[in-house]
Amino acid sequence: MQYDVIVVGSGPGGYVAAIRCAQLGLKTAIVEKYNTLGGTCLNVGCIPSKALLDSSEHYHNAAHAFEAHGIKLQKLGIDFGRMIKRKQEVVDANTSGITYLMKKNKIDVHQGVGSFKDKSTIVVTKGDSTATEITGKNVIIATGSKPSSLPFLPIDKKRIITSTEALTLTEVPKHLILIGGGVIGLELGSVYARLGAKVSVIEFMDGIIPTMDKALGRELQKVLKKLGMDFYLNHKVTGASVKGKEVTVTFDNAKGEKQELKGDYCMVAVGRVAYTDGLSLDKIGITVEERGRKIPVDEHLETSVKGVYAIGDVIKGAMLAHKAEDEGTFVAEIIAGQKPHINYNLIPGVVYTWPEVAAVGFTEEQLKEKGTKYKVGSFPFKASGRARASGDLDGFVKVLADASTDEILGVHMIGPRAADMIAEAVIAMEFRASAEDVTRASHAHPTYTEAMREACLAATENRAIHI
Ligand code: FAD
Ligand code: NAD
Repeated sequence: MQYDVIVVGSGPGGYVAAIRCAQLGLKTAIVEKYNTLGGTCLNVGCIPSKALLDSSEHYHNAAHAFEAHGIKLQKLGIDFGRMIKRKQEVVDANTSGITYLMKKNKIDVHQGVGSFKDKSTIVVTKGDSTATEITGKNVIIATGSKPSSLPFLPIDKKRIITSTEALTLTEVPKHLILIGGGVIGLELGSVYARLGAKVSVIEFMDGIIPTMDKALGRELQKVLKKLGMDFYLNHKVTGASVKGKEVTVTFDNAKGEKQELKGDYCMVAVGRVAYTDGLSLDKIGITVEERGRKIPVDEHLETSVKGVYAIGDVIKGAMLAHKAEDEGTFVAEIIAGQKPHINYNLIPGVVYTWPEVAAVGFTEEQLKEKGTKYKVGSFPFKASGRARASGDLDGFVKVLADASTDEILGVHMIGPRAADMIAEAVIAMEFRASAEDVTRASHAHPTYTEAMREACLAATENRAIHI
């Protein structure tokens, strides 16, 4: 079995790379060790977490928002088993959709663990240890990542869990202790807080979502506190133990004083680490970086071995599905001799809490550090007619524009449907729009997107209309 391209790993990086290769006329194979395609994103990441976020939001609204809209409910309850089953149905529909796309694009799927025999031969080993060899002129490594763990805090997958187990619990926790106030912690923490769990977040840094613009973390923390979440910022976890159904987490505050929390589940969400187990990279002379175990690549995403590329979570950069997809397309086009381009500064970051958080470009902190002179335009959702109608008054849009040229340098928003709204900012910035350019484009009324225009108006000449 000889191919132009073999892709190892079928997550959003791998399957998009395979489809783009096939579109470009390259004979393509994809190797996946699991029985279903789609990788972390479709099976235990983006899709199942969003399914549970949507279900829990419906419940939360029914319990807390319906009355204000004049809707009365006789009896409200949670069938958690059904909620988890629905999540799985959503996952199954998505993963079988990828199987269909492989067939449609005539991509051969080889199920089993892929490992290098040499730079163009991949041995595919199935669960029953039978092995097949396939060869490819090019190989794309898209093996993704797995949850990081803390050496002093062993994960038993029952009471001390990662996001993977948090997506398949059989009960709503009474008290969920989260280690890490990043994206996974806050999204899955929101799910269980909405369903009635007490949720405590222990975060090492002095704010939640610490890599995003600080104003976003502050606003999100305010909203999540209203949801009943407790935050222990600047705290360092030192250990956890399980006794029956009880987990005890020990941690130190900033002054070094020892504290502890007891709960029924503890979820560790302190980042993810690149996954290269089983690839036998040593056979082709690739050494992973010590920190994060990522595969080093050049500007064409080619490894130190000619014809072997790597994309997605397994290489440098943000661990995001759309970044992996963009790199999948990029590498396929490089192999086909084209000259694609990715603007890494314009890959948006989103947190699917409610309100949603979304950002693209430079943060204020980064602009200060770079010494760039910038202007700020902000618009609060409480001044938006659309947000008043829906009752989503928390949050704002903040636009950062170059002080002299007015070019938009960063957009940071927290508010209703911010995840969808950020696309306008990405497009504007891809075309190097000024804040004024956005103000000159018509925005339908009433929509949440008017907040983006108003923030741009505020940045242009402080001339927002509705504040
Ligand atoms: P992966 O999706 O991890 O896929 C890698 C695949 O390779 C896996 O299927 C694996 O089984 C396979 N594999 C590994 N080694 C081998 C081998 N030797 N042989 C054969 N197969 C192999 N990102 C977003 O952008 N938006 C979100 O909303 C979002 N939500 C998330 C929620 C959670 C709970 C988690 C955990 C992650 C989330 N992410 C989200 C991150 C996103 O899932 C990853 O960035 C994305 O899946 C990375 O894609 P990838 O193709 O690089 O790798
Ligand atoms: P993260 O990097 O977003 O957050 C980890 C958090 O844990 C950070 O705030 C960090 O300061 C904190 N932390 C680290 N060590 C700690 C310790 N010892 N004690 C207390 N806190 C500690 O990582 P994550 O939430 O695990 O998510 C992993 C990856 O998955 C991220 O790169 C993210 O991009 C991706 N993801 C994306 C989405 C999305 O796009 N909506 C959703 C989920 C996951």
